[in-house]
Amino acid sequence: MNSPVRAFNAVGGTPRFIRSAAGAWLTDVDGNEYVDLICSWGPMLLGHAHPEVIAAVQDAVTRGTSYGTPTVPEVELAEEIVSRTPIEKVRFVSSGTEATMSAIRLARGFTGRDLVIKFAGCYHGHVDSLLAAAGSGLATLRDTTEVDTHSVSSTPGVPQGFVDQTLVLPYNHPEAIRAAFAEHGDRIACVITEAAPGNMGIVPPGQFEGRSFNALLSELCRESGALFISDEVMTGFRASKQGQWGLDGALEGWRPDLVTFGKVMGGGFPAAAFGGRADVMSRLSPEGPVYQAGTLSGNPVATTAGLATLRLATDDVYAHITAAGETIKAAAADALTAAGVPHRIQSTGTMFSVFFRDGEVRDFEDANAQSLPSYTAFFHAMLDAGVYLPPSAYETWFLSSAHDDRAVQTVLDALPGAARAAATADTGQTTKGMR
Ligand SMILES: *Cc1c(COP(=O)(O)O)cnc(C)c1O
Repeated sequence: MNSPVRAFNAVGGTPRFIRSAAGAWLTDVDGNEYVDLICSWGPMLLGHAHPEVIAAVQDAVTRGTSYGTPTVPEVELAEEIVSRTPIEKVRFVSSGTEATMSAIRLARGFTGRDLVIKFAGCYHGHVDSLLAAAGSGLATLRDTTEVDTHSVSSTPGVPQGFVDQTLVLPYNHPEAIRAAFAEHGDRIACVITEAAPGNMGIVPPGQFEGRSFNALLSELCRESGALFISDEVMTGFRASKQGQWGLDGALEGWRPDLVTFGKVMGGGFPAAAFGGRADVMSRLSPEGPVYQAGTLSGNPVATTAGLATLRLATDDVYAHITAAGETIKAAAADALTAAGVPHRIQSTGTMFSVFFRDGEVRDFEDANAQSLPSYTAFFHAMLDAGVYLPPSAYETWFLSSAHDDRAVQTVLDALPGAARAAATADTGQTTKGMR
């Protein structure tokens, strides 16, 4: 297992080893087929082995796989990304983790401040400072928040000094973020948030006094001289053509200072990016003093795959994924209701997830109060019926433009039995602190 999310630790059993994939379907090494609702955890917006993406990649590979010099595909991909998003300049890296890590370094270098604010339940890759729960140096602030900031699991291997520089707040709680700025404002380098959290299930940014939670964060950062980093690694080119920003900032008239991208923009290859305000991005080397580099950054094969993917990601693609999602959401709700299983389906743009609990999920504490045994039974019944869901109750269900009627029908056929399996699971316990 080379990334823990692929393991079946949360649900038990053995992960399937996949030997090939085409469109909406995965084939395992034993020859079993599954409708794929993971889509490589987001990247495969067009489905697997899209003929035009494969052709572009094959063509690129024949011209050599890496040069360590500037290339044209990087510039074309940069132009495509800038044209769709609120950013002015962009830098390519090889993973979402690298993108958020570099964005935070740049924010600190630009502001000359050290503190980073993140939200419980948001995942930004395995960056040291972003895996940390709030440390004792900032313990006083806990009194002003409703959630114990230790609820985010930390990891061995992160120095206490890093933890002390990260403040973890509950998502969708304006009073907690206001209190943090009131107490530490002139020390805060940046606020980083998933543009719409999708790594604890989908928890859309709420509305507060007529504007989105993201608008509030952007405003508070501007007032204090901190930078607002919107992590669109998952939502970028996925929640909508313009990512989550297309669903709030573009309509409300604000822009994040920095944005991170990954997943879809790599078209199934290791490519990611961060970008934003020109004056901030100009602080990066070689123009500015903040160092950042990568041997394979902007790799010509990866950027070619990303460019082919984004050029094919038209309005029709998003409309198709939205429609397939609506069909599956409605059928899931019907099946779970009929079986008497508590559930809550939440969405942002084309993205959705199913919580095994009743009532609105606004933050990580809410997301944690769901039934793992119900999901485990549901997950295995779906898998047995040929549908590969994420092996965790905290994940988004990903679709692609290749999820056609046959694939969607396979999901619909599997849902009633899986809902009945969930109903008979021992739901005595709820889960705690999965991430
Ligand atoms: C997946 C993800 C990352 C990390 O990207 P990797 O390519 O896995 O390093 C960062 N932020 C968000 C919101 C993600 O969903």
